[in-house]
Amino acid sequence: MLFAHDTECALVAAAALVNTAGPDREGLPDVAALDRFFTAYGWSGRHEHTDAELRQVRALRPRLRRIWDADTDEVVEIVNALLRESRALPQLIRHDDEPYHLHAVPRDAPLATRMAVEAAMALADLVRMNELSRLRHCDHPDCDDVLVDLSKNRSRRFCDGGCGNRAAVSAYRARRAASHS
Ligand SMILES: [Zn+2]
Ligand SMILES: [Zn+2]
Repeated sequence: MLFAHDTECALVAAAALVNTAGPDREGLPDVAALDRFFTAYGWSGRHEHTDAELRQVRALRPRLRRIWDADTDEVVEIVNALLRESRALPQLIRHDDEPYHLHAVPRDAPLATRMAVEAAMALADLVRMNELSRLRHCDHPDCDDVLVDLSKNRSRRFCDGGCGNRAAVSAYRARRAASHS
């Protein structure tokens, strides 16, 4: 493991949240979609199932996406702003079946606030370890998704959306076309 377990989970969840806002698709079109996202990424605590909550979560996405393109100083600015606005106060807590981990806002804080703070805390780890280069874009030319490379040898190139397979198929077709020409 490269980082603490909660850091890795938070980074993966932040990338997934960013990727719900595609250039020509909306991955969180309604409250039900947010419910599915909530469950899929192991969120717990306050969850209102309201349009207001959905709007707040969607509004967080462009701010987080910015981090994937920003230099270190700008990442720090964004992270500090997210922590400040949310009045983050780190506390070690234990709940459900999880071991002690950090929460920086109470569990009854709004979902978008908790998402912002969890991402910010994890990003603070990346900055301190000088590992922001692990925040990358999918290598597939038709894909705009972001990813977090948690592999030991920094070898991850494609997002989770099937781009690795698509790229392998294209490469195969190109080789075949070349050998038949
Ligand atoms: Zn927790
Ligand atoms: Zn992709």
